[in-house]
Order: sequence, then C-alpha cells, then structure tokens
Amino acid sequence: MHRRTRIVATLGPATDRPGVLEKLIDAGLDVARINFSHGAAEEPRHRIKQLRQLARERKRNVAVLADLPGPKLRVILHEPMKLETGHTLTVALKPTVPADLQLTEPEALAKIKAGHRVLFDDGRLQARVLGVTRELVTLGVEVGGTLLPNKGLNLPDTELTIPAVTKRDREAIAVAVEAQADWIALSFVRDASAAHELRGVIRGYNAEIPILAKIERPEAVKRSAEIIDAFDGIMVARGDLGVEIPLERVPHVQKRLIQEARAAGKPVITATDMLDSMRNNPRPTRAEASDVANAVYDGTDAVMLSGETAIGDFPVEALACMNRILLEAETHQADDGPRHLTVPRGELCDHITHAVCDLARETGAAAIITPTLTGRTARLVARHRTSANIIAVATEETVVQRLALVWGVQAVGVPFGIERGDDRLEAAVRAAFLNGVLVPGAIVVVLAGHPIEGGEGFPTIRVVRVGPDGGSCEP
Ligand code: PEP
Repeated sequence: MHRRTRIVATLGPATDRPGVLEKLIDAGLDVARINFSHGAAEEPRHRIKQLRQLARERKRNVAVLADLPGPKLRVILHEPMKLETGHTLTVALKPTVPADLQLTEPEALAKIKAGHRVLFDDGRLQARVLGVTRELVTLGVEVGGTLLPNKGLNLPDTELTIPAVTKRDREAIAVAVEAQADWIALSFVRDASAAHELRGVIRGYNAEIPILAKIERPEAVKRSAEIIDAFDGIMVARGDLGVEIPLERVPHVQKRLIQEARAAGKPVITATDMLDSMRNNPRPTRAEASDVANAVYDGTDAVMLSGETAIGDFPVEALACMNRILLEAETHQADDGPRHLTVPRGELCDHITHAVCDLARETGAAAIITPTLTGRTARLVARHRTSANIIAVATEETVVQRLALVWGVQAVGVPFGIERGDDRLEAAVRAAFLNGVLVPGAIVVVLAGHPIEGGEGFPTIRVVRVGPDGGSCEP
C-alpha cells in the first residue's frame, strides 16, 4: 500500500545543493514549501522552476506551497544586543523616536498595555511591559540573554493592530501567483476576515489559489471553527504557537485542530520541530519519531519538515526517515481501524461519503474513484481516513496538483477529451485505468458528487468491475 500521510518539506540553501532536490522527490516529497520569510524574491522563483522541472522529469505530482510571513514582528538591530535580567529597555512606537530597540512594524503595538508579555527569539528571552507612553514602551527584562539582529517578537497578550496581509505579503503573493503556486499559507491569522483579505489580493492578480491559515496566535485557537470554515485548510504552526500559548497546551490544541479540520474535509499540516535534531544528526531522537507517528494517529493530512531540509546537514535522510515512520504508523493505524477518526453526520454530503466508505469496505473494493471538478468530493471521502484507495480523477491539472497535500488521495488527469453528455463515471474509471492505478477485474466504487461540488445533477454512487480495456462492466 502506498503512503497516505503527505510529506511537506521546506526548500532552502540545503536543497539548492546539487542533486538534493531530485533525491527528496525520489524519497517521497509531496509538497515543497517555499518560506517567503527568508531570502530575496529571486530565490523562490528559481526554486519553484527547478522543482517543477525535476518533478515533471520524474513523473511525480509535487505541489508548491507558498508560505507568507504575515504580520510577524521583528527587531531591527545591526549587531547583537545583550538584555540583562532585571534591567529595563525602551521600544519605539514610531520609527523616528530614539529608543533602545526599533521594530519592523511598531504601529502593530497600538494596543499594548502594562503587564503584557513580550517574547523575543521564539521565547528564549522574555520581558514584561512596565509602562506605555504615546511614543515608547518600557519593558522589564525577566529572562535575559543576547538578542540577535532580525529575531522575531511574540506578543501573546496584545491584540495586534496590523493588517492580516502586509505589504511584504503582497509582494510575495505576486511572486507566488506568477510561479503558479498550488497553495498559499498565511502566518499569524487572527480571524476569518484574513481569508477574505487574502483571497482579494490573490484575485487582484487574476488568480484563484487555495489558502491555508497558519494557527499560531491565541485568538486563532479560540476562533478555529470560523477560520477553518473561511480558509481551504490549516497548518498547526507549532513553532510560534508554542510561544504564543503555554507550551503544555500545544499537544491538546494540535489534536483538536486536526480533528476539526479533518471532519470539515480541509487539509491540515502538522508543522515544526518534527525531526529537528536531524538538522545536525543522521538519526532523530525517539521522542521525534513518536511525534511524527502521533500526528498520523491524530489524523493529520500532512507532516512538515522545516530547518531539517531547508538548512540542515541531512535533508534527504530526514525525509527518508519521516517516510519510514509514516509507513510504519499507518500500518498499525490500519490494523486498529480508524475508530476515533469519526466524521459527524449532518449534511447530505456526510451521509453520502459515510455510505461510500461503508460500501467500499463491504464489497472489498480496490478503490473509491471520485471524478472531481474542484477536488472537494475527494477531500470529503479522504476525511474518513478509509482503508480503501482513493483515486481522484480531475480534468484540471491544477486540481491534480493541489490534491498532493490531501491525505491518501491519488490524483490523476484525464488523458482523453470528455464531451458534454459523456458518462463521467465511466470516463473516470477508464482514466484511472489508463493512468495505471487500476487493474482489470478490480471492483471499484465510483462517487460523482455534482451537488457536493456545486454543479447540477444528483450525487451518484455506482459499483463496477473494471473491464479488460478499462471500461466498466457489471460487478
Ligand atoms: C511555525 O511557527 O511553526 C511555522 C511553521 O511558521 P514559521 O516557520 O514561518 O515561523
């Protein structure tokens, strides 16, 4: 059985080294993440172009995820600065005001108040607000250390007054649209309105690209239901999340977010520190191996590598190791049955996808085939984490490509024309056969979900046996 949990890996200087990217693709890369927080605009363009070419040569479907910085605050420093525990420090609220520290977006701090926490460098250094004037914030350093230039700043207690999509994000979106990224992720989403803002900017470039919300702010954790509804998927961005909320809450929040996104049929990526020690070591720790496996048991669509592949010494080993851990975890998940990975019943589409998964199990079907316009029918079947293979047949190449992020879906294109009035279900079976993902004699359950996808007609379920030439015959 093929691996069902998807691997997202971040590209960077380590994957630019000769031969590395092709090895990552061969080792099972499903989605390449381009992190727009680092580097100049030329780097993403070059990396995406190279990735597309290598994936095409290898006939692998690898999607591109453009990850936007969002309203991430950073310190402006030209050299390292020592913060002494117990000392005070001033931060400018306007770029022209003299202070100990300047920030990239000081206007975001308009609602900061005495008592709020200010965390630097992923929480390694900690301070608390002692007082606020119109021009300055005075901080008392609680956990000191050396603050390096360009390090990030987290304000878990402060409501940020900054647009969800910044000027820097807009510049990155222009590059992502031009390079035809398959997914766009936005950092530090605070509420559902960010989805409308982001879609508006993407549409301004005449593009429709599905969007992911990175959940890393406390208010996003609270508003997860509305955010999942408004976005096309989410990322559990545990790096910043573990600074913005107490670290001990992260495992539970991860489980809840995965459950909510999966039940809604929206892909969810579990990200950050998964095999972190493999930046410098060829083997991970036991705890890291368990973390990857537990994300599978939680029901995640995808797991993500960040520094391990972007700047690490062992990018290929990290991806190969992740692949092995996933395969092993999935074997045992299948043994036990995905009992806790339930999908609530409510809408018509819930009853239909429940019925299709039951039917596939009871008939011993080789696969569930979903002819799909947007990929939605395939996603709604995949959320059940069924043991049947799920084959999505799409006429649009972009849909095939985007489904590389979705748990368990093998997406294929249609290598022939479909005329108006043709039987779409029959065509889907033949397309799957011609793509080599079905053999003659196999029993398959086909679900065409026109109303599920907003089209006309009735949802149709058919059980057929694949004929010798890929045509369907009586089961
Ligand atoms: C994270 O914070 O976990 C994350 C994935 O975001 P970034 O790598 O952009 O900080």
